[in-house]
Amino acid sequence: MKYKILVLFVLLFSASQAQLLQDKTDFTRQDTLRGSITPEREWWDLTYYHLDVEVKPDEKFISGKNTIQYKVLKPNQVMQIDLQAPMQITKVLQDGTELQVKHDGNAHFISLTINQNIGDVNSIEVHFKGYPKEAKRAPWDGGFSWKKDENGKHFIATSNQGLGASVWWPNKDHMYDEVDSMLISVTNPKGLTNVSNGSLRQLEDLGDKVKSHWFVSNPINNYGVNINIGDYTNFSETYQGEKGELDMDYWVLSSNLEKAKEHFKDAPKMMKAFEHWFGPYPFYEDSFKLVEVPYLGMEHQSSVTYGNQYKKGYLGNDLSRTGWGLKFDFIIIHEAGHEWFANNITNKDVADMWIHEGFTAYSENLFLDYYYGKEASADYVIGTRANIQNDRPLIGYYNVNKEGSSDMYYKGANMLHTLRQLIEDDELWRKILRGLNSEFYHQTVTTKQIEDYMSKMTNKDLSAYFNQYLRDTRIPTLEYKIEGNNIKFRYVNIVDGFDMPIEVKIGGKTEWIFPNSEWKTKSIESSDFKVDRDYYIFSKEI
Ligand SMILES: [Zn+2]
Repeated sequence: MKYKILVLFVLLFSASQAQLLQDKTDFTRQDTLRGSITPEREWWDLTYYHLDVEVKPDEKFISGKNTIQYKVLKPNQVMQIDLQAPMQITKVLQDGTELQVKHDGNAHFISLTINQNIGDVNSIEVHFKGYPKEAKRAPWDGGFSWKKDENGKHFIATSNQGLGASVWWPNKDHMYDEVDSMLISVTNPKGLTNVSNGSLRQLEDLGDKVKSHWFVSNPINNYGVNINIGDYTNFSETYQGEKGELDMDYWVLSSNLEKAKEHFKDAPKMMKAFEHWFGPYPFYEDSFKLVEVPYLGMEHQSSVTYGNQYKKGYLGNDLSRTGWGLKFDFIIIHEAGHEWFANNITNKDVADMWIHEGFTAYSENLFLDYYYGKEASADYVIGTRANIQNDRPLIGYYNVNKEGSSDMYYKGANMLHTLRQLIEDDELWRKILRGLNSEFYHQTVTTKQIEDYMSKMTNKDLSAYFNQYLRDTRIPTLEYKIEGNNIKFRYVNIVDGFDMPIEVKIGGKTEWIFPNSEWKTKSIESSDFKVDRDYYIFSKEI
């Protein structure tokens, strides 16, 4: 998702605890059914979806079926499938037999009559219909966007991060289990084109309707699945990438074709920079697409959606206020950055969503680093600190579908930028970023796995470091006093064991110091003392 311009510059250092308690008591049984790996989910592993849906734009109505194929891991006869009201499950079939369904809010418990034996690969057909929730403020408050383009033609898109894909189609709506591959078949009125994820396999002519079949040959998270229907035209190019030839396709409203041909030059530039930093684009087989939509944009896997009005920056604004943010189209760079962090490496629980947004916000400055150098990239990421609120921790609540603070974007990015300084060796840093993408290729992961990998690769115990920035709202503060030829310093506002070394400038000369919670003394030749700006800490002379 993209960063919400909230109330910036507002720093809330306290009051967070009360807010946390408030949040915690607000969770309901429905949150648990949605957010946890329930026994009715745990016993089966998703292997394949065939989502077959008809979209009727004039009625704002959809109907169809999802064929869900799964492998039995443990014996169980009850399966949980999610679909949110007002959408309805009309019937569920297995091998032609209609099954009983017990409804519990948005969770539906299906009683299977055929014995489910470990290792079997079975499937069910879930039929559904309804008037799906209309997006109020896509993509944040998502659902279906039923819009019209400037020529009065239908311009329709889905977006459902957070809310969940079950807002419009029935599925196993939890991040931990990604389907291995998927066919998305969409029927819509003739004259309009649907673009979904993956590759277009077939286009069927059904008289006054058309049916497009899009095949995704890689694991995909539910919220990444999308349909986009409009008066589209397309152009494409072949990109010579790390894994060979990559199709890059661009689907835009006919009226924006010329504008897009010029503006989308940021896309191959993005691909070059991100393959350098993160390794090969993770979905060569499914192509890379940018698809114009009537909202700002979203990281839909292999069909990244675009609505940044063909402007540089974030709708023409620079989130860093340094000027560097206007060197690129924020939506192209940020949403495509998610192909590596969100789509390739996906959080198992949405509480760990900082893995998506922290790394991706950080990718914005790596794009700048690639084209404009290290200073430019540092200016940018440091500039974005003004957006950090320190209101809640970056990690949210597990098992209730609750993400952490929106600080996961720019505090996350600055945490990673700070870590890069500690590692010193830029090639090792790049190796780690690429290593994450190969180690956790097409997987869902926990924060712990990311922490452990980074500690292992850097040969440092980073547990206190991550505790500080991911699980606490306080920013480490270096207190110091200069007494004659000595400087005394220590950290306050830190978690147990936090002892990050930092670079400082003393009389213009760069040196390392090794603060912890105890006062330390160091002799100095100059009273001109400054903490290197690359470290995300505060400092205070006392
Ligand atoms: Zn994002």
